[in-house]
Amino acid sequence: SIMPATLATISQAAKHGILVKGGVHLEHLASIQAIAFDKTGTLTNGKPIVTDFLVRDEANPLETLTLLAGIEAHSNHPLAVAIVTYAKGEGIPVKPTGHLEDVPGYGVRAFSTDAEWLVGNPRFVGQVEAEHFKNGLAFKLIEDGKTVIFLKDEKGILAAVALQDTLRDEAVQTIRQLKRANIQTMMLTGDNEKTAAAIAGAAGLDAYVAECTPKTKVDRLKHLLATKRTVGMVGDGVNDAPALATATSGIAMGEGTDVALETADIVLMKNDLSRLPYAIKLSRKMQRIVK
Ligand code: ADP
Ligand code: MG
Repeated sequence: SIMPATLATISQAAKHGILVKGGVHLEHLASIQAIAFDKTGTLTNGKPIVTDFLVRDEANPLETLTLLAGIEAHSNHPLAVAIVTYAKGEGIPVKPTGHLEDVPGYGVRAFSTDAEWLVGNPRFVGQVEAEHFKNGLAFKLIEDGKTVIFLKDEKGILAAVALQDTLRDEAVQTIRQLKRANIQTMMLTGDNEKTAAAIAGAAGLDAYVAECTPKTKVDRLKHLLATKRTVGMVGDGVNDAPALATATSGIAMGEGTDVALETADIVLMKNDLSRLPYAIKLSRKMQRIVK
């Protein structure tokens, strides 16, 4: 049966925007030794803004943007939403184009009856070709810490979009509090090395791993679990769900995708990262009462 102190803590957490799906998860939180964070939509607001749009020399920019937005219109990934918003802002009536297949950690593959496109990061469309696109112009944007997405057709890379995301207001303070509570912090992201370094540095994280696939995120957590008894993972995306399931404490952002919310043990209802150190404090207090 559930202890009164546990019930009281679950209810207090709920009042503060933290959904805890059972007493055992509070016990895990109380003993957490390391926490891994996803980047986009977790440490960042997940509402990136398109800053640059580059197309292959002979291509028509408006037609290309129409195609790209039509492909991304199928996806609810934060980058996809940003690209669709940008296209609409350019006066393009966005209509879903082709059929879509998610390739987690890389991007999306789109098909129509007579064509196929890839939309995603350099690893997905070809690192060397991406590096040389527009004489290295797209890669310069990556050096600036931006996330760059490429569109590729049967002739090669057709376009590149650079997007800039921002850290959540409470991210720096949250990481500082976790470190003060003797918790190791790290970031696991599907994004490129440069962008990952910029965000991890700004947030003050102990470590980061860039260019993760959903499987790499799981492997990294298992690696952490080999030395730490209790490990948390905070994420929002479909791509984070396996990692959320692997961690001792899977923690989802309230605005996350359904599968992240279902897989998690704990949900930060208002997407407020500061609820996390608060929840840990509550759980530690509860442990002292229960013991
Ligand atoms: P993060 O770990 O930063 O939350 P994800 O794992 O969700 O990132 O995505 C990893 C990478 O895969 C993105 O940085 C992007 O390059 C690519 N990607 C994923 N979904 C899409 C999409 N719908 N359109 C374009 N690129 C995508
Ligand atoms: Mg994410």
